Amino acid sequence: MKVYLSAVACLLVMSVARAQSDGIGDPTFSKLGNKGYLASHYDLKINYNPTSNLFVGDVKMDAVATTGLKTFSVDFTGFTIKRVRLNGATVPFTRTDAKLRIQPVKPIAKGEKFVLETEYSGNPKTAQSASLPPGMKSGWISYPGGAVAVCEPDLAHTWFPCNDHPLNKATFDVEVTAPSPFVSISNGIGTAVTQNTTHFVLDKPSMTCMVTVAVGKFASIKQKGLNDLPMTNYVPRGTEGQSQHSFDATPKFMKFLADRIGPYPFSSYGVVILPNEVTGVSMLMAAAAIETTSIPVFGPIGVGNPETLCHELTHQWMGDCVSVRNWGDDIWWVEGFAQYSEWLFVEMTEGKSAYDQAVKAAYGQYSAPGKWLKPGHLTAQEMFGAPSYVGGALTYHALRKTLGDVKFYATIKAFIEKNRYGNGSTKDLIEVASKVAGRDMKPFFVTWLSGDTAPKLP
Ligand SMILES: [Zn+2]
Repeated sequence: MKVYLSAVACLLVMSVARAQSDGIGDPTFSKLGNKGYLASHYDLKINYNPTSNLFVGDVKMDAVATTGLKTFSVDFTGFTIKRVRLNGATVPFTRTDAKLRIQPVKPIAKGEKFVLETEYSGNPKTAQSASLPPGMKSGWISYPGGAVAVCEPDLAHTWFPCNDHPLNKATFDVEVTAPSPFVSISNGIGTAVTQNTTHFVLDKPSMTCMVTVAVGKFASIKQKGLNDLPMTNYVPRGTEGQSQHSFDATPKFMKFLADRIGPYPFSSYGVVILPNEVTGVSMLMAAAAIETTSIPVFGPIGVGNPETLCHELTHQWMGDCVSVRNWGDDIWWVEGFAQYSEWLFVEMTEGKSAYDQAVKAAYGQYSAPGKWLKPGHLTAQEMFGAPSYVGGALTYHALRKTLGDVKFYATIKAFIEKNRYGNGSTKDLIEVASKVAGRDMKPFFVTWLSGDTAPKLP
């Protein structure tokens, strides 16, 4: 994600509640996710009317029990549930604490596969993530003329029932029906089923929070992708042409990254640029862009800003293909690398001195006494502020200067290969860097990630 408001860097540092709960075990979001099973695939069928904001959903989750289950839960809030089926049979359920709790008629054995189907309807609403400033709501954002789902890090379950944590990535089929003249968009490759229904296939695992649906009045613009990768961008109808020079940068920067950190990890790419109307209802999308898997979503600010397009493209490797294990400890290497890639783009297009200038400017702003915020462990409130972005990017710059270009890119590439379509951690990154460097890199990372003052810029 990229948010353009300095207000996001909230200085209120609170100790994170570590209360035991039925969450998957993330210390930053202790109630998020569920234990006892892993979802492998979701089949979402959504009928949405932007005019009435009526949403009708039918979601199947394929999962396997990782322990014997007498009962289990998925994350889900809002809506009226019509029916829940387990392996085709209607089952009783309860709803408490943002969980939909299922009571199987007979226990599910460890290793057993099952299918949970939830049919529901209602008017989706935005929600407040603890990671964003008060009032900056996200989730299902309905605006005059359309709607879009923007859910990082903890709000996917405000529009579909799921195991809502990066530790449970899954593949997705998303079928969206919307009345004419609205266009439906989701992750992966879309095929028209009828005039009003489009079916999208995302064949590589994604975090739940990086699944999106956008319904609105869009024009689609096909683009020639690197190695014939299918690429379609969506812009508000009537604004075709305004973003072209930014889009032109995408295949070039995709090649730059692929040559250094490994092949582009998904089967398609493209971006969605939202219309100005969204800014009237969403403080977030007035100022943000988000790396939804294979189809990042941009507020209108995305138009004409190639650096931001490169930031979200970079997240396809770092963030989407390799995702956090837990949000607070890992967000720095996700956002830090995406931010760093903006400087790489500056270097690619404007040369070395422009890169040096960008690094120096960032360092000057955040290295002053009292300004440095160590990026290594962040509270929910700090996740999308300067520590992860600028602190993280400066850490990558220092790593590159310390290792040299060849070993720096080899480290990033090996880290991605090791954790491809799964989850990585800071510990993994240190181990990979140490292996590539041929020496213990832990002291370097401790200095940059956990020191109270800004380390000297190499
Ligand atoms: Zn980002």
